[in-house]
Amino acid sequence: MVTDTPGPDEVIAEREAGPPRVVILGGGYGGIYTALGLQKAARRADIHLSIISRDNFFLSQPMLAEVVSGSIEPPHIVSPIRRLCPQCDFHQAEIEDVDLDQRQVVIRYPDQPSFRYIPFDHLVIAVGAGTDLSRIPGMAPHSFSFKTLGDAMALRSHLIGVLEKADVEEDAERKERLLTFVVAGGGYTGVEVVAEINDFVREAARSYRHVDPSEARVLLLQGASRILPELDDGPAAFSHRVLERRGIEIRLNTRVAGATGEGVFLNDGSDISARTLVAAIGASGNRLLEKLPCPRDQRGRLIVDSSLAVEDYPGLWSIGDCAAVPDTVRDGTCPPTAQYAIREARHVAKNIMAAVKGSPVRPFSYNSLGVFVPLGRFSGAAQIMGINVSGLLAWWLYRSYYLFQLPRLKRKIQVFIDWNLELLFRRDIVHLDITRSQQTTRSHYEPGQIVFNQGDLARGFFIILEGEVQVVRLRGEVEELVATMGPGEYFGEISLLFGVRHTATIRALTPLDLLIMNGNDFTALANSSADFRDLLGGVMRQRLSDAGVESPEEFNRPPQGEADADNLS
Ligand SMILES: Cc1cc2nc3c(=O)[nH]c(=O)nc-3n(C[C@H](O)[C@H](O)[C@H](O)COP(=O)(O)OP(=O)(O)OC[C@H]3O[C@@H](n4cnc5c(N)ncnc54)[C@H](O)[C@@H]3O)c2cc1C
Repeated sequence: MVTDTPGPDEVIAEREAGPPRVVILGGGYGGIYTALGLQKAARRADIHLSIISRDNFFLSQPMLAEVVSGSIEPPHIVSPIRRLCPQCDFHQAEIEDVDLDQRQVVIRYPDQPSFRYIPFDHLVIAVGAGTDLSRIPGMAPHSFSFKTLGDAMALRSHLIGVLEKADVEEDAERKERLLTFVVAGGGYTGVEVVAEINDFVREAARSYRHVDPSEARVLLLQGASRILPELDDGPAAFSHRVLERRGIEIRLNTRVAGATGEGVFLNDGSDISARTLVAAIGASGNRLLEKLPCPRDQRGRLIVDSSLAVEDYPGLWSIGDCAAVPDTVRDGTCPPTAQYAIREARHVAKNIMAAVKGSPVRPFSYNSLGVFVPLGRFSGAAQIMGINVSGLLAWWLYRSYYLFQLPRLKRKIQVFIDWNLELLFRRDIVHLDITRSQQTTRSHYEPGQIVFNQGDLARGFFIILEGEVQVVRLRGEVEELVATMGPGEYFGEISLLFGVRHTATIRALTPLDLLIMNGNDFTALANSSADFRDLLGGVMRQRLSDAGVESPEEFNRPPQGEADADNLS
C-alpha cells in the first residue's frame, strides 16, 4: 500500500540517515540564545535544529513591567522566533511530555485534536519556571500573575479600568478599595512591578477629574525582613528608601494568607481592602519536568552537571530558570536571571557541537557583571562588579543594558523611541479590554459539521445556544446514536474532568450556535466549587452509563495508527 506518511521503520531509517537532530524546548532567553549559537551548524546542515514553544515570539521579560505603565508598547518587547532563528524548524505548540525511551517530544498544536511526536538526538530543556499559588486560598483566581505579555497587558487594562470606575464611584469605601493596589513579593519582579504601577497610577490619575493622585494607595508586601534579597544590604536599603519616598507602603515580614475579590488577608490577622492584587511570588518548577524521571532539586529544577548535561541521560541538556546549574564561581546554583540563561545557552550550544563531533565538553563558568533593578522613572539600583550604583545612573545603565540585549535592530529602535516619547508626552490611558472576549467564544456550525470526533483531545466545554447536536459513538466500524441535545445542554466536560480524549463524536443536526469555554477556565471553575463539580459528576455518570462506557480512561489511548502517522520526520 502506498502512503504519504512514513511508517515507524522508515522514520527510524530516516532518523539514522539524517544529521543529528537538536530539539530545543522553550523560546525564552535560554532557548533562543541556544538556537542562535547553533544557527551556523544548522546552516551547514551539520545538525537539524528545531524549537518548540507555546508562543511564536521571544519575550524580553525584564522589560515587561514597563508595558504595564505604558513606557513601552507591548509588541516592541517581543520578536518573532521564525525571524530570529531562520535556520530552525519552529513549532508553536504546547509541550505535553518527553518520551525519553523513544527519544521524542510529545507536543500539541493549538486547537488540534491529536498529539505530534518530534524525534531528537539532543534535547535542550529550557522551559523556564512555573508559578504555583495553590497554597494560598483565593490567590490564583483573585490575583494577577506576572510572567507573560498577556499578563502585563491584562494588568494594564485592569488598572485603567479601575481608574475609570473610581472616577464615577460615589461610595467612599468602594472608591478606596478601587484605588488600593497591592503587590505581593519583594524580589526583583515585585519591586519592578510595584514601581511601575505606582508611577502609572499617580500620573494617569491626573487625567481623571474625580480622582486625586494622593488617593491612590500602593503597597508592597514582602515575607522576608528586607526587600530585594538578590542585592546586598546597601542597594536594597537604597531601593527601599526610594520606593517609600515615591509613596509606596512597604510591609516587611508580611505574607498573604488569603485573597478574595474584595481584598487581601495577611498572616498577622489583618486585611487590606483592595481590588488589585499582583502575585510576584510562588515561583515553582515547570509542570512538564514532573513528568520526567530525571532528578530535580527542591525547587523543582532539573539537576544538571557543570557541562549543563543531565547525568545518566545522554543527549539531554537543561539551562535557564528550569535548571539547577552548579555555580562554579560562587557556591550553590546559578541564579534564575536572563543574564545567566544567555550565558548558559551559548555554552550549551558549544557543548552540543562538541558532543556531536565527539570532542570533550567543557564546564560552564560565569562571573556575573552585576544586577540592576529599575525603581520607576529615573531611578534604579545596581551592583556592578562589586560597586554599588544608585539613582539616575543605575536607571540609565539598566535601560542601556537591556536595550543592548534586545534582539533585532528594529526592536531596539522602537523601544528607544518609546522611551523618548514617554519623556515628552503623558502615558496613554486608552482602555482596551482584550482579556474577556478571548476566554469564552461563540462558534457556528452548519448541519452535518463535526464539532469534535471521538478520540480527539479535549478542546473546551461547549454549551448549546441554538440548534441541536447528535452524540454518536463508534463501536468498531458501526456508528451508534447515543443522544440528541438541544439549547441549554452542554458537552465536553467528561474529557476535561478526566483528562482523557473525547468519548463520543458531536455532529450538528441543525444550524448550531455554541458557547465555548476554554479548557483551563472550565477546569478552574470546576475546581473552585464542589457543588458545581458534584452537579457535573451526576450528569457525567449518567452519560457514561448511557453510552456503555465503563471507564473514561480507556479513551486515553490514541486512535489506531495516530502515534505512527503523527511521527514528524
Ligand atoms: C517580570 C520579570 C522581570 C524580570 N527582570 C529581570 C531582570 O531585570 N534581569 C534579569 O536578569 N532577569 C530578569 N527576570 C528573569 C528572566 O526573565 C528569566 O531568568 C529568564 O527569562 C529565564 O529564561 P528561560 O529561557 O530559562 O525561561 P523563560 O524566559 O521563562 O522561557 C521559557 C519558555 O518556555 C516556554 N514554555 C514553557 N513551558 C512550555 C510548555 N509546556 N509548552 C510550550 N512552551 C513552554 C515559555 O512559553 C517560554 O517561551 C525577570 C523575569 C520576570 C518574569
